[in-house]
Amino acid sequence: MILVFASNNVHKLNEIRNLVAVGYEFLSLNDIKCSEELSETGITLEENALQKAKYVFEKYNVNCFADDTGLEVESLNGAPGVYSARYAGENKNAEENILKLLEELKEKVDRTAQFRTVIAGIIGGKEFICEGKVKGEILKIKKGGNGFGYDPVFMPKGSNLSFAEMTMKEKNKNSHRAKALEKFLEILRT
Ligand code: IMP
Repeated sequence: MILVFASNNVHKLNEIRNLVAVGYEFLSLNDIKCSEELSETGITLEENALQKAKYVFEKYNVNCFADDTGLEVESLNGAPGVYSARYAGENKNAEENILKLLEELKEKVDRTAQFRTVIAGIIGGKEFICEGKVKGEILKIKKGGNGFGYDPVFMPKGSNLSFAEMTMKEKNKNSHRAKALEKFLEILRT
């Protein structure tokens, strides 16, 4: 089955293509000649994921799915959450987002957090929503050079490596996005 992943984020696309998904081919927006940045104007991850998937399904008439991810920090009452990409401003700069996060957490003892990914899929016009979460903590300094976004400051529970110190394969074993995609593919199989 060919599925369009409604994103042009190369990091996300590589992660998804590295997951074992026998029988599926994942195309990017570039592959279907869609170079627009898709709107994310919702106030929940679910709304944003569905908004992106609906846009692609309606305009290109292809089976597709989109993800939206938020970093939810306990002592910040779930922030930055759905606003994770724009946490430090509209230019969506990962470095600035991390600096702001570390600054906000400077005086906090509790540094527990979770990544939450929501995948919205539209297959033959039918909508599906799946979620994947991974719990962990926010480090005091950045560690590692792999991955993207907040990976250098997020260490999943049970590990002593940040996501950015892991290979893509290691991150994929336990990541929010991998879990959400596994659930989505499981729905498709059944
Ligand atoms: P979005 O899902 O592309 O809107 O991502 C929201 C924000 O979370 C952006 O700042 C991303 O860089 C960041 N983000 C999304 N997925 C991950 C991840 O797997 N690791 C680290 N940061 C991520």
